[in-house]
Amino acid sequence: SNPEQDFVLKTIESRDVHFVRFWFSDVLGHMKSFAVSPSELEGAFAEGMGFDGSCIEGFSQMQEADVLAFPDASTFQVLPWRPQSNAVARMFCSIRTPDGEPFEGDPREVLKRWVLRAKQAGYIYNVGPELEYYYFKDAEGTEVLDHGGYFDLTSLDYASDLRRDTVLTLEKMGIPVEYSHHENGPSQHEIDLRYTDALSMADAVMTYKLVVKEIAMKHGVYASFMPKPMAGEPGSGMHVHMSLQTLDGDNAFFDGTDSLGYGLSDTAKSFAAGLLRYAPEFCLVTNPTVNSYKRLVSGGEAPIYLSWGRSNRTTLVRVPGYRPGNEGACRLELRSPDPSANPYLAFAVMLAAGLRGIEEGMALPDPTEATDLFKLSRQELKERGFAPLPDNLGEAVERFAASEFMRDVLGDHIFSYLVQAKRDEWNDYQSVVSQWERDRYLGVL
Ligand code: GLU
Ligand code: MG
Ligand code: MG
Repeated sequence: SNPEQDFVLKTIESRDVHFVRFWFSDVLGHMKSFAVSPSELEGAFAEGMGFDGSCIEGFSQMQEADVLAFPDASTFQVLPWRPQSNAVARMFCSIRTPDGEPFEGDPREVLKRWVLRAKQAGYIYNVGPELEYYYFKDAEGTEVLDHGGYFDLTSLDYASDLRRDTVLTLEKMGIPVEYSHHENGPSQHEIDLRYTDALSMADAVMTYKLVVKEIAMKHGVYASFMPKPMAGEPGSGMHVHMSLQTLDGDNAFFDGTDSLGYGLSDTAKSFAAGLLRYAPEFCLVTNPTVNSYKRLVSGGEAPIYLSWGRSNRTTLVRVPGYRPGNEGACRLELRSPDPSANPYLAFAVMLAAGLRGIEEGMALPDPTEATDLFKLSRQELKERGFAPLPDNLGEAVERFAASEFMRDVLGDHIFSYLVQAKRDEWNDYQSVVSQWERDRYLGVL
């Protein structure tokens, strides 16, 4: 028998667990779940639990609707915000077809496949995301809780108790937190998870979003990860810090002899070049909503041009953290993603782009340090080769749809689904006549 599964079965008894929730993600990154009684678990580990996938966004066509969920025993955790007697636990699942094949619509499978490819190339892909979000008094989102700003610690920061409760809950679920702080926007917050391998982190991001919302609800308020919930206030990003570790545990991104003095190895530079090369194609995955593109605008703290630098926050890729003697901290930060992304797919496309950069030995252009990219004219941007990310969801879908690379990274099923679903979303948005248009044009035309 399997020791991890035995541990789960024992813990269920000792912690009085009465419901085991099977968690998995649909293609858009929404958490899906059903509850299984503990007596079913042994069978579920061996044979999976069947369900009808046709109701899950992006899963099956009608004719192949039945799929099986196989729980991953290593992800077993008791949910700390539920009662402690007759408790509730969760496990993330892999989805398979009735023939036992990995199901192509399962985003977790996509990431697993790329994690394995990285391993075959000799690397472990580590990521540390920074998810920002806003608290509102209710789900209407009209009133914020406080008017604090970046790192503020005053009575304005009403949300410290909320954040504290959230961090403690995450830690009880085995998700270590590195920083938490008030962000720039009123009632905007950020909790940064300690970096780990991409698959564990994608699971942790799914858990994090749920925990932030659950704890908010417990305190009678509402938390939102909408990328740009209020005009004129900062958007919420999901910057992703990343590095490759060799199978011996060394940081493959570090090289002390780097002539730039950034401590970056050739591997890291080619990885970054791959990110820059493919960012416009994978933007649909890292920034998948109409609203995502209201955050990626000039003048804010979110990037729009394909560029990189050490301390320039207007660049797409940043190299934070390295000081001589601190080689473990040498890493890349991709600043475009936002928390509406499906973390499994987002980490998969970043990893695939970076690996492609390494395989092809892609060269990295010079860094951009002193320049505020948002101050350059169109002409200057063009001359200096700073191409922009897609301007809106419509453009992002078409860049994605034209990418054979993305089809290959995500597989036909997810690729085709995203093209269709996101084109529909864009067309739907385009058909709306907004209040802005009526205010601006009705009276004068
Ligand atoms: N909120 C900014 C964004 O949309 C990031 C602010 C920061 O640098 O943490 O990406
Ligand atoms: Mg931040
Ligand atoms: Mg950051």
